[in-house]
This record gives sequence, C-alpha cells and structure tokens, in this order.
Amino acid sequence: FKSRVWYMDEYATICPYCGCGCTTNVSIREGRIIRARGKEDVGINEGNLCSKGRFGFDYIYSENRLTTPMIKKDGKLSPVSWEDALRYIAEKLESIKEKYGASAIGAIGSQRCSMEDNYMLQKFMRDIIGTDNIDSAARFGYAKAQKAMEKAFGTDILPIIKWDAPLKADLIFVVESDITSTLPVWGLNFIKAKNDGAALIVADTKETKLARNSTQWLRIQPGSGTVLLSGIAKVIIDEGLYEKDRAFTIKDFDVFANSLKEYTPSAVSKITGVSEDEVITLARSFVSSKKRLIALTSNASENTKSINTLLAALNLALLMGDGPDAVQIPAEFSNTLGMWMVGIRPLGDGKNAYEIFYEPDTVKALYIMGENPLVTFQDVSKVERTLNGLELLIVQDIFLTETARLADVVLPACSWSEKEGTFMAATGDVQRVPKLISETGQSIPDWKIFRNLARVMNKDIGLKDLMDIRATIADMVVKGGTKEVCPSFNPVSHEVMESVSDEYPMFLVTANILQHSGALSVLSKNLDSVVSDAYLQINTKDAKRYNIQDDMFVKVRSRRGEVYLKAMLSDEVPEGTVFAPLHFAHARVNALTYPSLNGGLPLVAVKIEAA
Ligand code: SF4
Repeated sequence: FKSRVWYMDEYATICPYCGCGCTTNVSIREGRIIRARGKEDVGINEGNLCSKGRFGFDYIYSENRLTTPMIKKDGKLSPVSWEDALRYIAEKLESIKEKYGASAIGAIGSQRCSMEDNYMLQKFMRDIIGTDNIDSAARFGYAKAQKAMEKAFGTDILPIIKWDAPLKADLIFVVESDITSTLPVWGLNFIKAKNDGAALIVADTKETKLARNSTQWLRIQPGSGTVLLSGIAKVIIDEGLYEKDRAFTIKDFDVFANSLKEYTPSAVSKITGVSEDEVITLARSFVSSKKRLIALTSNASENTKSINTLLAALNLALLMGDGPDAVQIPAEFSNTLGMWMVGIRPLGDGKNAYEIFYEPDTVKALYIMGENPLVTFQDVSKVERTLNGLELLIVQDIFLTETARLADVVLPACSWSEKEGTFMAATGDVQRVPKLISETGQSIPDWKIFRNLARVMNKDIGLKDLMDIRATIADMVVKGGTKEVCPSFNPVSHEVMESVSDEYPMFLVTANILQHSGALSVLSKNLDSVVSDAYLQINTKDAKRYNIQDDMFVKVRSRRGEVYLKAMLSDEVPEGTVFAPLHFAHARVNALTYPSLNGGLPLVAVKIEAA
C-alpha cells in the first residue's frame, strides 16, 4: 500500500506564519512535504487555513537555503566546517569583549524561531557573554502593545487575544487594522460575527476586506484613529454616558477628561474626515452595546498607528468599565509571544533594537538569529550603515538573506519542519511542532548552535537537550504575569512625525498583505505566483493627475530615499494616499520609512511621479 505512487504520510503540525497558530496537516512523500491542508474541526482554526498556511510552506525548499557555515574572506563568503565557524565566532566575540566590554555585543532574536531557540540565544548572551543588549523586531510592533497594556492596566500580563472574542461581541470596532491580512483565520471570526448580527464598524483609510464586509466603514484620514477614539471618549464623557462608578475610581480620570478638550466632534471631523454626526452616533452605539470589542493590530510593518492609538483604545475600554479583554491586540507572528516570554528583550539596562540600529555606535558586534533587518526594518539606509559599521556581524538563518550577505560569519539553521520546538500563539496557547523532515545540508537547530558554541568556548551553558530547555521555560512561563492590576488613564497626543508638504504632497501607508507578511513568504514560490512583486496602489484620480497608468513604474520619493514601484490603480486607497507592501527586498520600500518607538505617528510623506 505504501509503495503506491499516491501514498503520503500525514502529520499534524502548526503553520509557521502568523499568531493564529493554525493546525495544518502536511502530507509527506519520500521525505518531502508535498501539501498542507486543514482538517475540519482540528485545531483552533477548525480546519480553516489561509493561503500562507495552505501553500506557503514551500519556502523550506527555496534554492536560497543555507547549507553550510560560511566565513567572509576577502569580501566573499566561503564555506567552512562547523568547527572552524564556531571557533572563529568564539575568538572574535572574546576579543571584542576584552577590548570594549560585554556591553559592546548585542543580539537579535526571532518571532519565528521556537521558544527553545530564543531561550538559548538569550541564555548564551546573558550567561556566557554577559550582555543584556537583546531584542527583536517586535520592539517596533508588539512591544508597543505590551507597553500600552502595562500603562493602562498596571500589570505585566501580556496582551493576548481570545479566539472567540469577536463572536461574543455585539459591537466590534476595528481601528486601522487589516486583520484578515495579518491574522487571516482569526479575521474570519469578525466576518462571521457580522453575519450573525453583530455591528462591525471599521475605521480605515484603505478599503480592506473587513471594510467591505462591515456594517459601517468610516474612511478616515491615515493615522487619525487616535483622534477618532479620543473623540468618541469625549462625547461619552460630555454626555455623562460612561461607567461613573468604575471610571471615577481609575487613576487620572480628571487628567484624562481634561486632556480631551480639543477632541470636539467638529475638530475630530476635520482631522479624521468622519462627520460630526457619525462621531456622536458611534459614541452612543458604543455605550448602548452590551458587549463591545475594539480590535487593532500593532505590527512593525504598519505606519498608521502609534502607542497613542493603542492607549486611546484602552482609555475607551476603561471609560466603559470594561477589562483588558475589551481591547484585542494580537501578537503578529507564530512565536512573537513565546519569544517575548523567554526574555528576548532587555531585562535590565541593555540596549533595545531601536538603540542598536538607529543610534550611532551602540554595539561593535551583533548576533542576528532568524531576522532580516535590511529588509524588514524601517529606514534601511540607516540599518545598512549600522551593519556595515560593525566589527563583527554573525547571522544565523535558514536563508542567505540580504542581511546575511553583509555578515562576517553565516550559520545555517533548520527550518520549522526540520526540528522539534514549541511556539506560543497570539492566544497564549503553547503548541508543540514535531520534526517532520530531514535537515537541509549541514543545518542544525538554532538552540543546538548556541549549546555547541558555548562548548567551543569551554563554557557550560547548563542545558544539554530540548527536555532540559523545556523544563526551564515551563518554569518561567508559570511564574510570569503576577503583578497587581492597577488601571489608569493615559492622556494621549496625536502628534504626527511627518506631514505632507508642497514637495511631498501624499501619504504612503504601509502594511502586510494577505500573501506576504515578512521575510519568509516572499521565498515561497507558491505565494510568489499570486503576488510576486511590490506595487504602489494609487487612486485612479491621482493616477490621472500624475499621468500614471497601471503597471507603469513610478518613482516614489520620501525625505529619506527614493524607490521605483509598479503602479496598481485602485480606489481601495483614497485620493492623496498611496499604499505599498514592504516585504520585497529588491523594492526597498523601507528606504522611504522611519521607525518610531514611543513618540509620534511615523506617517510617511512622499512625492510620486511617472518614471
Ligand atoms: Fe498560518 Fe496564520 Fe494563515 Fe493560520 S491564519 S494558516 S497560522 S498564516
């Protein structure tokens, strides 16, 4: 039976892409994954998969996979043995530590590597090297959600989502978040909730799938979600509709109420583009609903929200006496939460990813695991300058990425299906991923590389196998999140860091799209066959004004750089706004953008012209 040509072994595993953590059944023939399918009623996703889960697994067979360690000699990366590579790294790290101290060394973890991999990275850096400069790309996304939650609820409980939260709500308010693209299967619950009778109100500049499926779509100006949320809060306070018994007891109520002075319906209408009546009606429906929910994403690839947007949403929940669950902010990637839990962030006075990449000379050596900052981080020219200025760059990845090409040493790691590991979904569920296929070339699991490197350095990292690591992680996870809950309002500002001008008259909005959400999906031939290139969505009227036709190259210039993108004429974006996905390396869309941590909104003003 097994010898029949159609025979395939079937195994259940977890999709490696987003925070939904969907269960997928993969079929394997002759050691190769042939297909992935959902199985009805299996997993939190109940058999549903999006295109990434269904077809995107083939990135593991990309010709760009790393198969051997490499060291750069005369400007060229050349294959070497594992022993030589690890010895080289050990010597270099030790000499940099001796010369500048351990604080001159930093590390970047990965939201897509397992909890065990990330745990061992931080353990190696903290215990063997002695540095706390450990962070990840989540600094520009999920860390903001965590910080906002901590400010509003005074707790270190991580923002997690409830899978059925949309289905239990009678009013859902989605603010500038394309949930069906970033967490596609969870996004289905929003549409189902609307079909079952809930009011689904979407405030977004772009006509997203949720906007098309909403009961009401408010096409707001890019980045004005904070203002709309604050305007709703003001109407609720002015009309005395808030939960007085609860709200009064919350810290800084008066300060918050006073801070809303400027958000009158007419001012809000001017900034957002939503009519005064709509603001007032929305506030009243918010109050009259029994179970309301605000949902918004906090992804590093988005530039229309800041920590202020998240705080404005949390203020509204507090005003109505709702708990943290009334605001759902999902973790973006398959293991964003797990990575955060095991300590991929500065825990003491270490430098964060912003300081490492955007402030001069923060570190001399950087160890990057499973991340491609040269494509996925904002303002890539600055990122490139930082990487080029290092004395030592080590990249451990499954691909020869753009960042890996700049490295002094490159180490080949196993992909998600080539090793065992655990991942924490956006719901907080920890799920085990089995090893399903053989390693590619000489690649080995990330966690094992750190164990081996410690051995080469004659140091005992104290953990010898996965069981050891898991037991330690389990202990950490159980001990997490126990601080006292002490809610407080946080007055917010809607400061925008860049405005349009005569020279840069349009706003550029960036975000994920359904097929592409990071560095992996663009290496999937299956997903590439659907969307294979970056593009610039332009409203048809703007296109006419600038004499731009479909598929024509457009020069897009911001205050930081210029790129060329193919035009896609579409009324999904309004006049005055263009949209581009970020994840195609060759397109360098991140040459136009810039990062923002706690400050204002990182809107990007651009000029476009037919190339
Ligand atoms: Fe994978 Fe997320 Fe799609 Fe589920 S929703 S199949 S986890 S990318």
